[in-house]
Amino acid sequence: MKKGKVFLAGAGPGEPDLITVKGLEALKQADVIVYDRLVDKRVLQYANPASELVCADKLDRVRHSDGFSKRQNLINKLLVDRAQKGKNVMRLKNGDPFVFGRATEEIRGLIKKGIEFSVIPGVTAAQAAACYSGIPLTSKGFASSVAFVTGHEDPKKKKSSINWDELAKGGTIVLYMAVGSISRIADTLISKGKNKNTSVAVISNVSKINQRTVTGRLKYIGAIVKKENIKAPAIIIIGEVVRKEKEFGWFKKSRKILFTGLSNHRPYEKGLIFHLPLIEIKPLKDYTKLDELIRKLKAFDWIVFTSRYAALYFFERLFKLRLDTRKMGGIKVAAIGNSTAEKLKEFGVFPDLVPKDESSKGLLAELKKINLIKKNILLPRSDIADKGLTEGLKKEGATIFPCVAYKNTIPDNLPDLDITNFDEIMFTSPSTVRSFKKRYKKVPKAVKIRCIGRVTLKEAKRCGLLN
Ligand code: SAH
Repeated sequence: MKKGKVFLAGAGPGEPDLITVKGLEALKQADVIVYDRLVDKRVLQYANPASELVCADKLDRVRHSDGFSKRQNLINKLLVDRAQKGKNVMRLKNGDPFVFGRATEEIRGLIKKGIEFSVIPGVTAAQAAACYSGIPLTSKGFASSVAFVTGHEDPKKKKSSINWDELAKGGTIVLYMAVGSISRIADTLISKGKNKNTSVAVISNVSKINQRTVTGRLKYIGAIVKKENIKAPAIIIIGEVVRKEKEFGWFKKSRKILFTGLSNHRPYEKGLIFHLPLIEIKPLKDYTKLDELIRKLKAFDWIVFTSRYAALYFFERLFKLRLDTRKMGGIKVAAIGNSTAEKLKEFGVFPDLVPKDESSKGLLAELKKINLIKKNILLPRSDIADKGLTEGLKKEGATIFPCVAYKNTIPDNLPDLDITNFDEIMFTSPSTVRSFKKRYKKVPKAVKIRCIGRVTLKEAKRCGLLN
């Protein structure tokens, strides 16, 4: 049997969008994804729904500090087994696979069995911590070298393999896995001659909404970490570069926005956007009804698309039935707004009507200008669409064929969130409002709400979310 190939890839730390383009492409096409606990699960939404997802940390819960844990063997075995079965495998690690990533043991296992592999770099936690906290790792006049150091050296080792004497001499020191050992490390460095007043920053949960940076002097940093209750994962930066944080620390100062819709393409929106889709679009189990209507497409005068998903699933069914856009010849097409129109264009259809007021009200108003008496209108829509449009069109004398094309659901695993971390919440549809209400109950007083569209605003009022 042809063997599969294995990618060892870095997912970056914290937020899921720190993965590289190459990593994401390989992820999308993997048959099996073996990921670490620290990898944000949201990146897995890009995986092929048919792929096998395995959390490596769950293979064996016992952690061994000797580096030859049972878990590691199980991971190696799994990678080899799946590749030998002809599967394409992604081993997705936190940060970069070659920085404290324990990749070598896994690679050796693959080489031994003659399995092809490649390694995809990732943003390592040190780089992300530096960028997100506004502390350059090197800076003219401050530091011209940087060392990545583990704070989790094997305690059984008789002699440290870290040259603390050299490290104490200068340059920036970045500590990984050191929250528990920082007091001991600070003492060691001071005993080796490092100035006890050297600036230190501890940055936890880098790039996440709960990212925190605390700074202090080397001699006090252990006590500060304890007092501030800083928990792993965290990166500790030691060196004079830390003084730049006051000037360049953009993350602390930026306005933090929770974006609840599905697509987030707003990098230049003012503030810092955190993307947590509060809805999930799912296909139906049974498409008998929509398929039947699509087979009779010639009978329709108009197809009205009220979302880009309506367009997406309509075309998916059209193609499944081995039909194409020629079947739509002569039929007029309306789209509720620009993103729906854009989706239609991807399928080679330029809508005849897109209202300026991108809402069902706006759509209805535009359609009313046309003589709809006795016209047959196909309305593919979600399972929770409101009846307003159907009723309005009926009043114009049209015959409406509403048909559910997809489900708009609430995701199962919405994380615990401290909403007070945000300055603003952006709701993009009534369903995001309802989902928020169900999972998070209330919006704290200090947090501003922004709603896209009147209907969304109305729903936010109805749910009592507006302060
Ligand atoms: N291969 C990873 C490192 C794995 S070791 C990389 O290149 O980044 C795990 C350590 O990485 C943690 O103890 C912590 O020091 C650091 N780390 C990982 N994710 C982090 C995050 N979101 N914020 C801060 N530190 C993180």
